[in-house]
Amino acid sequence: MDKDLPDHPIENVSGIGPHRAKLFSRLGIRTIPDALNYLPYRYEDRTGLKKISEVRPGNVEIVQGRIVFANVVRTRRKLQIFEISINDGSGLLKAKWFNQSYMQKNLPVGQEVILSGMVKNTGQTALEMDSPEYEIVSDGTDSFIHTKRIVPVYRITGGISQKQFRKIMFTIVSEYASKIRDTIPPSIIESNNLAPLSTSIQQLHFPEAGTDPEILNSGMSKYHQRLSFNELFFFELGLAVMRRAARLSKGIEFKTEGVFRKKLLELLPFKLTDAQKKTLEDISRDMRSACPMNRLIQGDVGCGKTVVAVLAMLDAVESGYQAALMAPTEILAGQHYINMHGPLKALGLKAELLTAGPKAVQLAGIRSGETGIVIGTHALIQEGVKFKKLGLAVIDEQHKFGVMQRALLRKKGMRPDVLVMTATPIPRSLALTLYGDMDCSIIDELPPGRKPVVTKLLEADKKMEIYELLRTEIDAGRQAYVVYPVIEESENTDLKSAVQGKEGFEKVFPEYRIGLLHGRMGTEDREKVMLSFRQGELDMLVSTTVIEVGVDVPAATIMLIVHAERFGLAQLHQLRGRVGRGAHRSRCILVVYKPYGEDARRRLHIMLRSNDGFRIAEEDLDIRGPGEFLGTRQAGMPDLKVANIVRDMKILQKAKSEAFGLIEASPELGEFPSLKKAVEVFWKGKKDLFRTG
Ligand code: ADP
Ligand code: MG
Repeated sequence: MDKDLPDHPIENVSGIGPHRAKLFSRLGIRTIPDALNYLPYRYEDRTGLKKISEVRPGNVEIVQGRIVFANVVRTRRKLQIFEISINDGSGLLKAKWFNQSYMQKNLPVGQEVILSGMVKNTGQTALEMDSPEYEIVSDGTDSFIHTKRIVPVYRITGGISQKQFRKIMFTIVSEYASKIRDTIPPSIIESNNLAPLSTSIQQLHFPEAGTDPEILNSGMSKYHQRLSFNELFFFELGLAVMRRAARLSKGIEFKTEGVFRKKLLELLPFKLTDAQKKTLEDISRDMRSACPMNRLIQGDVGCGKTVVAVLAMLDAVESGYQAALMAPTEILAGQHYINMHGPLKALGLKAELLTAGPKAVQLAGIRSGETGIVIGTHALIQEGVKFKKLGLAVIDEQHKFGVMQRALLRKKGMRPDVLVMTATPIPRSLALTLYGDMDCSIIDELPPGRKPVVTKLLEADKKMEIYELLRTEIDAGRQAYVVYPVIEESENTDLKSAVQGKEGFEKVFPEYRIGLLHGRMGTEDREKVMLSFRQGELDMLVSTTVIEVGVDVPAATIMLIVHAERFGLAQLHQLRGRVGRGAHRSRCILVVYKPYGEDARRRLHIMLRSNDGFRIAEEDLDIRGPGEFLGTRQAGMPDLKVANIVRDMKILQKAKSEAFGLIEASPELGEFPSLKKAVEVFWKGKKDLFRTG
C-alpha cells in the first residue's frame, strides 16, 4: 500500500464519488497525498466548552446539551426554519437553521449535541445561535471533528460545505497520514531537527488538545516547518539538478587580453563604479570558464548596466566571436546603438542596428562574421538572421521577454554565454529561489553625482501648485512627463485619463507642445512620439504607463503621476526612474485622490521616503506577499503551497544547502529512488529534471 500512495486517487476514499472527486480536483486535490498536503488556512479554537448560563451575546461560544425541543416552522415568505432548544442543566439555548428541514432527522429530541456559533439576544428568554456548527455526541465517541477541539478551516469550493469537507479530510487523515512515506534521507531529518512527517500531517489537520492555536495560525509551528522544508527541499533539488546540468555542458572558453576593453574605458568620459567593476569580474570569470555563462545583472534604473554589457561584448569580439544585444523596443535598441556605435567605431569595430525589416547587406554581414556586434529588437531572433559565430547573447530588460524568446536568441549560437539584465530589483530573499538556475550580480550603486529625485505628494485639488511646478521646469527648458492610469474616461471607472488629461493641459498651457502616448496607438506612432519627446520637440508627454522602460531623456526633469494612489509600488518606482537621468535635479509629483486605503498610504509613504529600488522591492514584497509579488515572473517554476519564502527564509536556506549538497554527492539520486520520484512529481509539467538513459 505505502508504495502506491503517491498515485492513489482520491476516489478510493469512502464518501468520495465522481462528483466530489471533481470538486476536489478544482482545489488541486487528485490523489491522497494531495489531500494530505492540503492544509487548513486557519484554525478555530473550539476547545472552550461553556455552560449555557455563562454564554454572552456577541461572542462565538461552544455549548453542549440535550435537545428538548425541535420543530420546522414555515414563514410567510415560504422560508423553512428548523429550530431546536437544548438544555445543559444550567439553562436553555435556541438554535435555528434556514431551509434545512432535513436536519430534523439528524437532530431529534433527546439527542446530545455540541453547538458552536455566534450567540444572539433576540429579546426572548433564551439566547439563540443562527446556523451554528453542530456535532452529534454519540455514546463512546471521543473523536470530535467539528467542535470541542482546535478545528481546521479549509479553503473550499462551491458545492461542498466546510463541515462536509472537514469530515472527509478527517477520514483521509485518520486512514492515510500514518502510511505516508517520508522520502527525505534520515540523516537530513536528524541534522535539521525535523518533526516526523506523518505526525506533522496529522497535527496540522487535526491538532491535538493543548496545541497553541496562535502558533498554528502563524504557520510557524514545528509541523508547518516540517512540511515547508519538504517543499523547499524538493524545489531546491530541482534547481540543483538544473544547475549541475548547466555546469556539465560545454560552452565557450573566451580568451582575451582585454585590449578592446581597455581602449573603450579610456574613451569613456567616466570611471566605472565599484559595483560595475565587481560585476564585470563576475562576467569575465564566467566567460573564461568552460561552462556556458547564465548570469543575471540586477541593478536599479540608471546604475549603468549597458556599459558593463558592452565591455563584455568587446571581450567576446576580441576572442573572435560575435556578440548580440536584444532590447525590448526599437527606441531602446536605437538608444543603445546611438550610444555605442561611436566608441565602437573608434575601436575599429563594426556594429549593426537590427530592427523590423533588416536589410540584406546587414544580414550578409552578420552571416559572414564581418559584423562583430549586433544590437536589435525581436528582429534578432527571426529565422532569417544567421550568425557566423555568436558567442555572447545579452538581453536587456529581461522581464519584457518570454522564456521562449530568450531561448531563441540562445539558439542563434552554439551554447553561447548569456547575460540578462533587469532594472526590476528582486529582493535578495527571492532572487535565491526565483533565479535559482542563474548566477546573479547586483549593481547596487549609482554613478557618483546623481541627484536623487525629489518626491512630493499633492492632493489633486492643489491645481495651481501643480501647474506652477510644471511651468517652472518647462520654462527653464526642461521637459515633463504626466502619467495617467487609464487611456480614456469611461462609465465604469472614475479615474482621470490620459486623453482627457491632455485636453485639459492644452487649455491651461496653450503655449506648450504636448504629446500623447498610450497602448492603443500603433507601435510606429508610439515610437514617433517618444522620439520627438527625446529630441526635445515636445515640452510635455502625457501618457499611460506605456512609457518605455529604460528610455533616457536627460532633459525630462519632472514627472507627474496622476492617481498615484492607484499604482503598485514597483510601478511607481519604475515610472519615477524615467526622470533624474540628467545633471539637473528632478522631481516626481504624486498626485492623489482621496480617500485611499491603508496599503496605498504605505506605498506612497515608501515612495516619499526612499529612492532605493531594493529597499522598495522589499517593502513591496511585504505589502503584497510573495504570491502576488512574483506573479508571472515565476513562470516555469512550481508553486509553493505550504512554504512562504519570506516567512520561511531560514528553512529555505537550510533546504538549499542540503539539496545542493545531496546532488553533489548523488547527482542522479540513485540511492534515493523514492526521493527522486517525489522530486519529479513536484516538478512535473515544469521541467524534466532527470533525463533517462
Ligand atoms: P541602466 O542600468 O538603467 O540601463 P544605463 O546603462 O542606461 O543605465 O546608464 C545610465 C547613464 O549613466 C548612461 O548615460 C551612462 O552613460 C551613464 N553611466 C554609466 N556608468 C557610469 C559611471 N560609472 N559613471 C557615470 N556615468 C555612468
Ligand atoms: Mg538599461
